[in-house]
Amino acid sequence: MTTHASKPPRSRGVFCNRTLNMRSIKAIGYDMDYTLVDYHVERWERRAYERARDKLGELGWPVAGLQFDHDAVIRGLVIDLDLGNLVKANRFGFVKKAFHGTRELDYEEMRTSYTRTMIDLALPRWVFLNTLFSLSEACLYMQLVDLLDSRKLPPGMGYRDLYEQVRVTMDAMHVEGELKAEIIAKPDYFVKLDPDLPLTLLDQKHAGKKLMLITNSEWSYTCAMMDYALAPYLEKMRWRELFDVVVVAARKPEFFTTRSPFFEVVTDEGLLRPVIGALKPGVAYLGGSAAQVERHLGISGDEILYVGDHMFGDVHVTNRVLRWRTGLILRELEDEVESIIRFQETERRLAVQMIEKEELETELAHARVALQRSRNHYGPKVGESERVLHERIAELRHRITELDHAIAPIAKSATELANARWGLLTRAGNDKSHLARQVERYADIYMSRVSNLLWATPFLYLRSPRGSLPHDPSTPAGPPLVAAVPRE
Ligand code: IMP
Ligand code: MG
Repeated sequence: MTTHASKPPRSRGVFCNRTLNMRSIKAIGYDMDYTLVDYHVERWERRAYERARDKLGELGWPVAGLQFDHDAVIRGLVIDLDLGNLVKANRFGFVKKAFHGTRELDYEEMRTSYTRTMIDLALPRWVFLNTLFSLSEACLYMQLVDLLDSRKLPPGMGYRDLYEQVRVTMDAMHVEGELKAEIIAKPDYFVKLDPDLPLTLLDQKHAGKKLMLITNSEWSYTCAMMDYALAPYLEKMRWRELFDVVVVAARKPEFFTTRSPFFEVVTDEGLLRPVIGALKPGVAYLGGSAAQVERHLGISGDEILYVGDHMFGDVHVTNRVLRWRTGLILRELEDEVESIIRFQETERRLAVQMIEKEELETELAHARVALQRSRNHYGPKVGESERVLHERIAELRHRITELDHAIAPIAKSATELANARWGLLTRAGNDKSHLARQVERYADIYMSRVSNLLWATPFLYLRSPRGSLPHDPSTPAGPPLVAAVPRE
């Protein structure tokens, strides 16, 4: 995607939940990790996993044999701390699939555990996997649940305590800096370059937008990553000159909700000085708050677009508390859209078979009610004998069973798209996933990478699709309309 003119493939689109006029956006803020700087997820998360695992090994836990399984977890799943499960829920919060540790729950276990349960992320029972950084953590946790169940971990520990231990270990691993040092030493192994990124940012800057970098990463790591990602493509310009505001160690989401003080980063080594008075242009800051950034720029609310990959820390809070416009980066969307496109033809066949099934089911239901009326001598006169109705019912049941046999493998493959265990990120069964629901609530726009905005330009009016409801005449599926009275 190197020219403005050619339309990108669908997988590189900018998808719009709420209409957004790029012209009316005066400032665009970017998150760094997994947003401006994209990582080879499997490599990053494997190293994070291994380092956390080894720290637990130092506590004497028998974890040496554990290995990171990249396909075991996807973003948007939810950990159930009461039961030690990992679940996928639909948009209403109903659990559609669940694993206990690394074992899938069968139908009966699912019923017992979740028929009366609806996920509410406000409750401490549930942990939503907000970002790709969550993959290593969740994978490790689920494997440790197996060890806990087989009594190989310290006694007296419950599923919640276990999670706390994993959380603390992961947190320390991120903060201590050894992993970061490894990434700085081998950026080509961990970072995916995107040659379209600098032009995207330059277009926005020259269109008069204030650009901001607001990251939770600390200064030296930010410099190393931004240099690696942008320097090869920027002529005679340092990456810092692209941005009007640079904030590191921002402590999002608190950055958006509280009023912590700013510190000025004085030297390249990261020496700090408290900020007295107003923010200055061209200076990098640490900490601080969004409220002060708004004051500094003289811009607020819906004139600012913030783009990040963390569902809660980057888009939920920003959108709800500050009313900034939001863009979510979902890197997995490229695979997701491509899998859906590859499956389209099969999907069409499946839809035809489902319509046929629904017609047979409707016919069966009406034959059954006719038989019931005939037997109990009420309602309109039934034109067929009970014997004929019995035969019809048997025949319809047979045809439905045959059709089910044909449909089952196709329906199963539809649930295995993108990830054999969990399926698509945005779907749960036939419905939207819990993640998809959050995307539509909190992200005005979403896309696989920042550079998808290149085609959108800083001037485009992004319109949301009209959206469909089950009663719209154009909505496919649903039972065919039939007369309520059986055929004579
Ligand atoms: P951002 O996405 O640019 O805001 O930065 C994310 C930063 O947070 C990276 O430096 C990550 O290493 C760090 N990070 C991710 N997860 C954790 C955590 O659980 N504890 C502490 N830091 C984390
Ligand atoms: Mg990020």
